[in-house]
Amino acid sequence: MQYIRDIIICDHCQTPNKKLPLQAKEEARCAECGAMLYTSSVGMEWKILSFSFSALVLFVLINIFPIVHIDIAGMEAQLSLIAAIWELFQRGFLFVSFFALLVLEVFPFLLMSFLFAFALFVVSGIEKSAAKTLLLAVSVIRRWSMLDIFFISILVAMIKIYEYAHISFSVSFWALAGFIILEIVLVRIVPIGQLWDMWERRYGVS
Ligand SMILES: [Zn+2]
Repeated sequence: MQYIRDIIICDHCQTPNKKLPLQAKEEARCAECGAMLYTSSVGMEWKILSFSFSALVLFVLINIFPIVHIDIAGMEAQLSLIAAIWELFQRGFLFVSFFALLVLEVFPFLLMSFLFAFALFVVSGIEKSAAKTLLLAVSVIRRWSMLDIFFISILVAMIKIYEYAHISFSVSFWALAGFIILEIVLVRIVPIGQLWDMWERRYGVS
């Protein structure tokens, strides 16, 4: 969906619709084809506050404990996120390890911290310009948090060694899964336009 001031263009039939403020739990539909255009952002700040806080707690767990324990014929090994990045660095993959540090540690942490601070500002109605800056940062960082890709690559690796290794998943593995679900909700299901709506509704346009 494209936002041009108060006009919103339908994704399905490309008809421009006038954008109107919604009450809680209402949704706007296209006047031409009836497709859903956007939903109300009323009360959304509380969801974002609790989801991003939970994600930060899970992020700490992801980094404290190893993600999987692997036992191959008595030889035990465990994989932890930060150790994997450090291993890459030590083996001379400087660029890859630096990139991994950014997309697996720095950006996911900043994304959830910024969303948390943004929701906190909106809830308390303070720091108008800081909230805007946070939202601008979120719209850039949200594309660069890649823990989901890391999670899938772990699963692929586990499937490959499943037959001859005993694999046990630790609390960190489930924390990672939980973090990814929260991130999907916050980044993919909640459109960034809805966060801007929330900001406008709270602080006014000017
Ligand atoms: Zn339409």
